[in-house]
Amino acid sequence: MCGIVGYIGGREAYPILIKGLKRLEYRGYDSAGLALIDHSESLNVYKAKGKVSDLENAVEKNDTTGNIGIAHTRWATHGEPCQANAHPHYSASETLALIHNGIIENYASLKENLQERGYEFKSNTDTEVLVQLIEYFKNTETKDLLTAVQLALREVIGAYAIAVLDKNQPNLIIAARKSSPLVVGIGEDDFFLASDATPIVEYTDKVVYLNDEEIAVLKKGEKLKVVNLYNEEITAKEQIVKLNIGQLEKGGFPHFMLKEIYDQPECIRDCMRGRINMEGTNVILSAIIDHKERLLNARRFIIVACGTSWHAALIGKHLIESFCRIPVSVEYASEFRYSDPVVSSEDVVFAISQSGETADTLAAIELAKSKGAFIYGICNAVGSSIPRATHTGSYIHVGPEIGVASTKAFTGQVTVLAILALSLAKEKQLISQNDLEIILKELLIIPDKMAALLQKNAEIANLSAIFTYATNFIYLGRGYCYPVALEGALKLKEISYIHAEGYPAAEMKHGPIALIDAEMPVVVIATQNGMYEKMLSNIQEIKARKGKVIAFVTEGDNVISQIADYCIELPETIECLDPLITSIPLQLLAYHIAACKGKNVDQPRNLAKSVTVE
Ligand code: GLU
Repeated sequence: MCGIVGYIGGREAYPILIKGLKRLEYRGYDSAGLALIDHSESLNVYKAKGKVSDLENAVEKNDTTGNIGIAHTRWATHGEPCQANAHPHYSASETLALIHNGIIENYASLKENLQERGYEFKSNTDTEVLVQLIEYFKNTETKDLLTAVQLALREVIGAYAIAVLDKNQPNLIIAARKSSPLVVGIGEDDFFLASDATPIVEYTDKVVYLNDEEIAVLKKGEKLKVVNLYNEEITAKEQIVKLNIGQLEKGGFPHFMLKEIYDQPECIRDCMRGRINMEGTNVILSAIIDHKERLLNARRFIIVACGTSWHAALIGKHLIESFCRIPVSVEYASEFRYSDPVVSSEDVVFAISQSGETADTLAAIELAKSKGAFIYGICNAVGSSIPRATHTGSYIHVGPEIGVASTKAFTGQVTVLAILALSLAKEKQLISQNDLEIILKELLIIPDKMAALLQKNAEIANLSAIFTYATNFIYLGRGYCYPVALEGALKLKEISYIHAEGYPAAEMKHGPIALIDAEMPVVVIATQNGMYEKMLSNIQEIKARKGKVIAFVTEGDNVISQIADYCIELPETIECLDPLITSIPLQLLAYHIAACKGKNVDQPRNLAKSVTVE
């Protein structure tokens, strides 16, 4: 998600910054900007909405000289993507410029305090609050930039990777991180700074990865100094990076899809940040607090979505009905819009879309709005059309998804739906504090469990190689994992062009069982939950007809492993969160089968990432 680049030394900074931003383009973004201190020691900030090339065009006729600079690609979280909200942000006196990746969660209260002291703001970002706060400390407590940054960061709750320039100290960059990545490259007599090593490796292979709450002081002519927020010096651990230049854009992965599958633990952490407290005792979704009456008094919920989002919606229905006892119907947006649906002002319509631009979903929203319904959006792309067309909503905050086949957006949507169901259940007093805490604590460790299961990648890759012969696949699941079966089948279809069908397992005997023979691979999600015994019977039925069973089971299961042809063990979790674990091996299975078949995984034929047509 988004990118930071910085340079200080003897070379011209501008070409290094632009090239670095281009190297980070794979992370996705909506606007870009940079700040340079030129040879006459003035601080120049340039920014543009759109691509790095738009920034280059905007800067073209300006002075880009200088040996020190910072640059940024933004993926908007607070405030729409536009020039004013793009980074770097100046402080009020325009002596400081700052870039930031992450979210300042307590920006509202910090901003209010600064406004009371007369500070004015030019953007809607959380980031501008931080640069003003640093300037406030510089004006009131200290003249020193490092101390002012330390004082300001001690006030901040949230995630940040930042870099700051001070026009009055033209030989210095201060950089810091917490929960957002930041790497310092150490050259002969210069320093590089970036969100990952990709922009750095062509200049130096010597790097220092900053840890949380560490601040790097990059000063011309001096050695790298790393301190913490209380100015205690930290011994920086230098490392040597080896990166294949050809793979840089994808952060070292052969495809964006695989990278995005691997991004999931971090993405789900980002998605939960600020919504579930660290102790796992409380859950807050601001949209629910702001529109409590409307949501709690709804007659029913309708979820409209397409494709992968529709599968997430089915899981959402299960979660909301189980925890909140509110009836939910899930509709294909494309059908809903032409079906003369029964919708009234007592209904709440949820619209789910990764891109926030899906044409059918937008049309469904307009229709429901015209009938008086209250509309709640669940999207990834900040500032896109759906968030603008809805009354309220929640972003999934998983960062840009570039591979056409959705992966991390699906798990992000399921996470937001789980948080939503739990928040509503809490407000309706339908869940005890004890039960709530059990689920919240489990949600908080889901990213670690995802990371553990990603260790099975090689095992799944080996398994996939066996099935490249197949022309058909069946996927079966039950309960919370029935939509996971649908999603697993969709992934395979999308990128490998193998025909695949997902079914609720018990439906098999009402038709699809006729397809089963010794050639037919059947993927079965059979984790230890309330449906386990039933799934076992379904597996027996498939084996009795010689089908090839690929089973995904809970760690330690020694029953299904005796019956299934292939068995992959997954970390255990609680039933309602099963989809967050079980969907990932199915993504990997589809990915490896398609990659083995030499398909264009990231841009499958006939498909588009953002479906802006009917
Ligand atoms: N929260 C900041 C903003 O919306 C930074 C976003 C980013 O990481 O690019 O401007």
